[in-house]
Amino acid sequence: MPISTMKAAVWHARHDVRVEDVPLPPAPPAGWVKIRVAWCGICGSDLHEYVAGPVFIPVGHPNPLTGRQSPLVLGHEFSGEIAELGADVTGLAVGDRVTADACQHCGKCYYCRHGMYNICEKLAFTGLMNDGAFASYVNVPAELVYKLPANVPLDAAALVEPLSVGMHAIKQAGSILGDTVVVVGAGTIGLCTIICARAAGAGRVIALETAAARKDKARAVGATLVLDPKTSDVVAEIRKLTGGYGADVSFECIGSKNTAKLAFDVIRGAGRAVLVGVFSEPSTFNFLEIVATEKRIIGSLAYNGEFADVIAMLADGRIDVAPLITGRIGLKDIISGGFEELVHNKDQNVKIIVQPEPVA
Ligand SMILES: [Zn+2]
Ligand SMILES: [Zn+2]
Repeated sequence: MPISTMKAAVWHARHDVRVEDVPLPPAPPAGWVKIRVAWCGICGSDLHEYVAGPVFIPVGHPNPLTGRQSPLVLGHEFSGEIAELGADVTGLAVGDRVTADACQHCGKCYYCRHGMYNICEKLAFTGLMNDGAFASYVNVPAELVYKLPANVPLDAAALVEPLSVGMHAIKQAGSILGDTVVVVGAGTIGLCTIICARAAGAGRVIALETAAARKDKARAVGATLVLDPKTSDVVAEIRKLTGGYGADVSFECIGSKNTAKLAFDVIRGAGRAVLVGVFSEPSTFNFLEIVATEKRIIGSLAYNGEFADVIAMLADGRIDVAPLITGRIGLKDIISGGFEELVHNKDQNVKIIVQPEPVA
């Protein structure tokens, strides 16, 4: 009898993610591949959907590219092996070890045609606007799939996605060579941004973080100084370290209006603040502060094309993600050992990666 179902973590509503039996993805259409998932990381945005969603998941209005809406299988930070090829797929073979960019896009709009597919007007993020990889199998467009060199293990490869977010954020800032850089928040994206800032030649990397475990991680991945906004006046501290002016560049990696203001306040005049966090509420802000200081505020969403560069840097050892993986669980434990664990013990965790169940 053919096996027709697999276990998947399906978002139904806020606080209602169910590990349930769902149909296996169909044979991949032309230009798509089916991937047998090895590992899939729990992202801050997955947690956001669990705790406060829907944030990005379409409810009542299907995504214009995929036609899909809730309920959807979550998960977009994944690695695995090609299980099946759709028609017209070249350069990939069954059994290839891979990871995949999650930005499914139309290829036709202004942004897609100008190298900014991450802000495609029909953007359909894997695991938020189409079925994702907290499942045994996932179908994705072949153009988003990247082969892994033999020396990049599948668990580390699940971190290529958040590392690409960090690398894209650095690129949004422009050159940071020699600069004093402040990274606000040392969760996964903050830590990935620290790693990429070091790789990009930042002079000093100052992490702002309150949780002890994350402070240690920040130091482990290359922060030159860690300051705690709860116990010190970090704006004054950073001014003291920079001749009274402030940092050249900051990266907000939390998504809170208060830490966004902090990211703005810690930079010097004409400095750059890159906002990477996902915000869920508006803020009041006097735009005169921008006019009067010529500070620049820059948004950074996901990535566009950074996967290959991140994989190359993992392969040659320039970047190391091992310190970021703090937990490994099976899919059946994703609620208690994943989402609830991250809600209640955020301070002890960075990246929890999830192994789906094999389909017999
Ligand atoms: Zn993510
Ligand atoms: Zn587009």
